[in-house]
Amino acid sequence: MADQSFVTLATNDSYVKGALVLGSSLRNHRTTKKLTVLITPHVSDPMRKVLEKVFDEVKPVDVLDSGDSAHLALLKRPELGITLTKLHCWELIQYSKCVFMDADTMVLSNIDELFEREELSAAPDPGWPDCFNSGVFVYRPSIETFNQLLQLATEKGSFDVLPAFLLDMEPELWRGPTSGDQGLLNTFFSSWATTDISKHLPFIYNLSSISIYSYLPAFKAFGTNAKVVHFLGRLKPWNYTYDSKAKSVKEDAQDPTAIHPEFLNMWWDIFVTNILPLLHQHGVVKDTATGVKAEEVAEAVSHLSLSSAAVPNSPPSPPAISSEERKERWEQGQADYMGADSFDNIKKKLDTYLQ
Ligand code: UDP
Ligand code: MN
Repeated sequence: MADQSFVTLATNDSYVKGALVLGSSLRNHRTTKKLTVLITPHVSDPMRKVLEKVFDEVKPVDVLDSGDSAHLALLKRPELGITLTKLHCWELIQYSKCVFMDADTMVLSNIDELFEREELSAAPDPGWPDCFNSGVFVYRPSIETFNQLLQLATEKGSFDVLPAFLLDMEPELWRGPTSGDQGLLNTFFSSWATTDISKHLPFIYNLSSISIYSYLPAFKAFGTNAKVVHFLGRLKPWNYTYDSKAKSVKEDAQDPTAIHPEFLNMWWDIFVTNILPLLHQHGVVKDTATGVKAEEVAEAVSHLSLSSAAVPNSPPSPPAISSEERKERWEQGQADYMGADSFDNIKKKLDTYLQ
């Protein structure tokens, strides 16, 4: 169908890597839909060229030049930057229906059947299941909806956007839901949780990597049916280092995703097989010899992964805290997943209870 498209967004070269793997995974599973990527001016020229190899349409969106209403909205609410950028997907009115997918998602099978659903269809958020997760959703492009969303954003803001001063301090540490689009969209499509069950996508269309370890038995029972994996959270697949000989990602034992690294490895396998040759062709990764040996690829890849170090390898370790304080933070949703509250430590604690 020429008038239907998958749509994603990348505002920098790191997220472009994600968009490329997503696009490639959709092609590998023979989608009949168009592929569109929205990009902002920070995306480099060579990366744009590579995007053109995978996507049918590479559409630059510049929040500041994108029309008066968006311009005004941004001036009044500078913290809404990335939120507004995602909203641009409603402007793609050459399509009658679209499926938006975050650049940190990857498909495991053909999902064209999603286009049979209506706006706004999405899967529950693993953190608050009465909200939908805005990483995968079915929608109908419409300038009217775009303007209404923009108006809501400027009047009310989004309940999950962080104040601008925090974004200025540690932009990379406050990544994720803090981009604010999910709160805004849930406020706008507020009947999602209660009105029409056909708008609830099964969770297998947006399986977050977090859910794998937070409900391992369910993952064991239903995980094989997964159709879309979402690498939600601060650490994205491109932040890891990949060993292409061993075909596996080098993981910290503390990293909870280490219990099921197969999706991460799958992401990297697509990256090395389908995307790396394109990056070579366009001079993003330089050939050192005439032929590229496996070790060189591995080196180039780990270099690539390191060069995307906009996201620090590990967050600064917090000072030691009392168990009371730790409990409080846990209850406020600020679990230290990579440290004290890592899966390994939780498991140790459980083991001591069970003995
Ligand atoms: N995004 C982007 N640049 C950024 C942050 C986000 O292009 O610096 C886009 C990208 O498509 C990404 C989506 O916005 O997948 C939502 O952000 P993210 O996936 O990081 O949030 P999470 O799913 O972890 O909550
Ligand atoms: Mn995401």
